[in-house]
Amino acid sequence: MAKECINCGRKIGFISGEHFDGLLCDNCYAEFGGMTLINLETETDIDKYIEYYNKIAGEIDKKANPNVDREKIKQCFYKRIDTRFNAVTGYEMKEYLRKEMEEQEKEIQHVEYAKSFNEFYEYDVVTIINENHGTIDKQEMMRILSEHTKNGWKLHTIYSNELGKNALGILGLGVNATACEDVLIFERRVKEPNE
Ligand SMILES: [Zn+2]
Repeated sequence: MAKECINCGRKIGFISGEHFDGLLCDNCYAEFGGMTLINLETETDIDKYIEYYNKIAGEIDKKANPNVDREKIKQCFYKRIDTRFNAVTGYEMKEYLRKEMEEQEKEIQHVEYAKSFNEFYEYDVVTIINENHGTIDKQEMMRILSEHTKNGWKLHTIYSNELGKNALGILGLGVNATACEDVLIFERRVKEPNE
């Protein structure tokens, strides 16, 4: 017995191709956006998959016959999208989304917890270039430190960064020169978080 398209009732045979094991005819499959799934063949952007989920669900809601089991059609499309997602990324779509949502929820909780202390900070970064590797420009550093502490800053971190040849060129130093930069990170309390 020939199968009929669940949406339009057209007989599914040699002429009108079938999709999802005889559930949909070619026409309805295309109507719901099935042809555009080909774009997912090599898509690595996760958001695009979500977009297709929504796009196809939207098309089915808009165009499907009112009496038809829309959920059943949607699930078929979703399964196909999932398969592509799995082939391209190596992850199960549901598993991936669940993990991502968990991470987001965790992050929200961490933000709420951190904010509950009502302590907010801002940061400033100052760099000092030292041409002779190994010596610190003490005067310059003292000047920067006192200037910052006057304004409520506290030195949070300091580290030295050896400069590569590219940086030396930009600074106008010879390629055989050695130079480093001291990086000073200052912190101070603020009333409100900086958005
Ligand atoms: Zn049909």
